[in-house]
Amino acid sequence: MEDNFKHKGRRRILASELREKGIKDHRILSAIENIPRHLFIDPGLSEQAYIDKALPIENNQTISQPYTVAFQTQLLNPSDREKILEIGTGSGYQTAVLDYLNLDIYTIERDHALYRSTSNLFDKMKIKPKKFIYGDGFNGMHDDSPFDGIIVTAGSPVIPKKLVMQLKIGGRLIIPVGKDVQVMTKIIRISENELKKETFGNFRFVPMLKNKN
Ligand code: SAH
Repeated sequence: MEDNFKHKGRRRILASELREKGIKDHRILSAIENIPRHLFIDPGLSEQAYIDKALPIENNQTISQPYTVAFQTQLLNPSDREKILEIGTGSGYQTAVLDYLNLDIYTIERDHALYRSTSNLFDKMKIKPKKFIYGDGFNGMHDDSPFDGIIVTAGSPVIPKKLVMQLKIGGRLIIPVGKDVQVMTKIIRISENELKKETFGNFRFVPMLKNKN
């Protein structure tokens, strides 16, 4: 798969833009600098791959804006080999960022066409989530829980209880909550029955949908 100096140069500029916008974590900036985002989108949009904006992918979905990917990852603040569940695999770009950070990734996509094309891409790019399933993210992955962190990349009208229950004590859920506009929300499970909630401003995501089946 093709990468070149022009793309690399653009990624370096993108990473420095994200630093100016408040992304401080150097591991995340290094992920942005190294992951060829243009390979996660339609070749016809390659020229726009390193502009800090969301772009269309298959079936009316979007690849999140690089800033949003970096911001959610920074809120997740993962350490090496933590167990992370991602809801809304989409293009696989956020997954690639998590993979770059040496995490054990479990990821769920509800759109079958996207699930198939992104599976192929992961094979080609040697990105190896522990599990990648076609299913409904509202259910999480009960059998593989609990998780150190859960990251949701679609806008959810509510905070799904099942996801909160799949967090370890000390685990974090990063989720954009709301219908038309979403408030970026971090939930920390501080004990069996206690949660701490923080919010981080407004974002716009495609909606998290109930499964078609
Ligand atoms: N991280 C992705 C974001 C894609 S957009 C990227 O940057 O490419 C959000 C994704 O969430 C879409 O692919 C959509 O199909 C998926 N999605 C929506 N509702 C879902 C659900 N209930 N379970 C799993 N995935 C869902």
